[in-house]
Amino acid sequence: MQVIQDKNVLSAQLKKYKEDQQTIGFVPTMGALHEGHLSLVAESLKDNDITVVSIFVNPTQFDNLTDLEKYPRTLEKDIELLASLSADIILFTPTRENIYDGDITSKTYEFNGLEKVMEGAFRSGHFNGVATIVELLLRTVEPNKAYFGEKDFQQLQIIKKLVALKELPVKIIPCPISRELHGLARSSRNERLTKATREKANFIYNSLITAKSKFGTKSVQEIKESVTNLYENNSDFTLEYFEITDEDTLTPIKKIQENTKYRAFIAVYAEEVRLIDNLALN
Ligand code: AMP
Repeated sequence: MQVIQDKNVLSAQLKKYKEDQQTIGFVPTMGALHEGHLSLVAESLKDNDITVVSIFVNPTQFDNLTDLEKYPRTLEKDIELLASLSADIILFTPTRENIYDGDITSKTYEFNGLEKVMEGAFRSGHFNGVATIVELLLRTVEPNKAYFGEKDFQQLQIIKKLVALKELPVKIIPCPISRELHGLARSSRNERLTKATREKANFIYNSLITAKSKFGTKSVQEIKESVTNLYENNSDFTLEYFEITDEDTLTPIKKIQENTKYRAFIAVYAEEVRLIDNLALN
């Protein structure tokens, strides 16, 4: 496995593969790799000749400096994990200055309202930061396919929109959420939880299952109230938001309509650690 830090070196290397008609898959990450990330890498390895994995903790998508500073960084372990998977991986670990060309700021995007709800409403500037780095990375790697997890479903929809708006020649491949044994969605942030809280954190997934079990028989309002009640009665977890939205537009709904796909989204604080999850309802 090659590890490359400089985007110009990476581009030159990839150009050779492209000239040989090799296909490139791309998996952007912020590192502290877990099985969720590795499931995306496995998909890419299956579909492509070469897989580029990037590890870059992107400062412009954090609205909270403590969260950025405390974000887990485990590069040596990440390198070992990836190297054990395949020799056909190129790991790209740019510095901030290198990937941003010295100008470490976000561009401003409009994504038809996709960026305004949920994560967009609670994390100011988050999706401008995400879209800025993903656009930079896609323009550097120029992959045939890029892999994104449904764990960050809103992000996935925004990336699809970004690719359409900028007419980037890449196919976005959504990958299912990888969960721990009792249902907690895998996340690099889970490492920051104490063992006791981590063991209880399947509560978040279970609250989504509760919502799903009521979907179709109870009103949206009743489902929202029942989820809110679950959190009011549990001091280990603080609910930031729970929404039911149209899966495509991400517009929160009041009434269920036929022939529409719906999804439940949740953000929760556990011991100062912010966790998100989502579940298809129908
Ligand atoms: P991150 O390192 O958290 O920025 O995530 C990098 C990519 O891995 C994103 O496309 C995430 O959606 C995806 N990802 C993170 N956790 C999971 C998971 N539990 N299941 C599936 N994909 C995931």
